[in-house]
Amino acid sequence: MDLSYIINHLGEDRDEYMGAAVPPIFQTSNFVFSNVTDMRAALIREMDQPFYTRGHNPTVATLRQKLAALEGSEECLVFSSGSAAIAAGLMSALQAGDHVVCVRKPYSWTNKLLTQLLPRFGVETTFVDGSDPEEYRRAIRPNTKLLYLESPNSLTFELQDIEAVVAIAKAHGLLTAIDNSFATPLNQQPILMGVDMVFHSASKYIGGHSDVVAGVMCCSRERAEIVFRGEYMTLGSIISPNDAWLLLRGLRTLPLRMERVAKTTPQVVAFLEAHPAVETVYYPFSPSHPQHELAMRQMKQPTGQFSIALRSDSVAEVDAFCDKLTYFMLAASWGGYESLAFPMSALVTSANYSGSVVPWNVVRFYAGLEDAEVLIEDLRQALEAIPVKAHR
Ligand SMILES: *Cc1c(COP(=O)(O)O)cnc(C)c1O
Repeated sequence: MDLSYIINHLGEDRDEYMGAAVPPIFQTSNFVFSNVTDMRAALIREMDQPFYTRGHNPTVATLRQKLAALEGSEECLVFSSGSAAIAAGLMSALQAGDHVVCVRKPYSWTNKLLTQLLPRFGVETTFVDGSDPEEYRRAIRPNTKLLYLESPNSLTFELQDIEAVVAIAKAHGLLTAIDNSFATPLNQQPILMGVDMVFHSASKYIGGHSDVVAGVMCCSRERAEIVFRGEYMTLGSIISPNDAWLLLRGLRTLPLRMERVAKTTPQVVAFLEAHPAVETVYYPFSPSHPQHELAMRQMKQPTGQFSIALRSDSVAEVDAFCDKLTYFMLAASWGGYESLAFPMSALVTSANYSGSVVPWNVVRFYAGLEDAEVLIEDLRQALEAIPVKAHR
């Protein structure tokens, strides 16, 4: 199945839609039946047939089909947020007494799930750096059940060698799960590398317009059925038909958007690497990055997130730099049309600052759909806030 077919046609039945080019939003909680036989049949197949929108909804079903095809998975479930997808997927796979090995500093609320919620139910986690897959192997205990990856990783975009970690998991009979949000299914398909559960925050690239919060889990049909009957239906953190429709619209331009940032972001990064006020650039697609070879092997093209450490010893200077940015707006999320900056210095007083690992002089950037020249000029004028005396 080619990409254009998946994006433009798969799962869309235009005859059913009275010829409408765009799928309608099935904004209904209930589906009605003309006889008990049909009702009984629908209830048995609640994951695949309209019965009640917490289980199945045609708008959501179209989205599920497209996302599964993009990831190369048998099935897909869509949730009300990326965090909901991760929590439901991990809870379905774990029980009291189990142990998880997770990459260091995963997304903040994944971190909270593993360090605060799951321990209340008897699940423990060991965190590893993960840039060497052997660290996963060394952390395995007799009760280890699952290896968790996030590649690229939050904030500083370290990678894990997915195939190597999967090989370790398979040798020990363990499950693997990955947060694939930063790569998108277009650039990295972990299911095809043997990963059992792939998660996305669809609030980011998949939505692409900064107007939806949603999450995705891709996996085998068998696993999806377990999650559907369990966490999906009981915790009920499902996506609304309206939000599913917005994600369908976002998907129409996902390949174009990813192509765009693959061209512009390396130019912006090259400018920053040459700037005296920038101490470090964190971007795995940069030729000077220690994991560049792995990035090129594991992902299809560069993506739009990078971070920089500023050559400054003053929070006030970092703040002034961020305040001077105009095209890059200050916000926590990413993945939309607009460029964003997120300074670690803003986190220092927050209860969620899992901190220590990422220093306060680091600013995370997301390159939106603007021209590279515009973004470079914005950064150039803002970097004037970092005085030359610090440039030694
Ligand atoms: C945003 C994000 C999440 C959480 O997704 P929500 O949709 O905000 O719940 C998970 N992982 C990564 C890498 C993210 O960036």
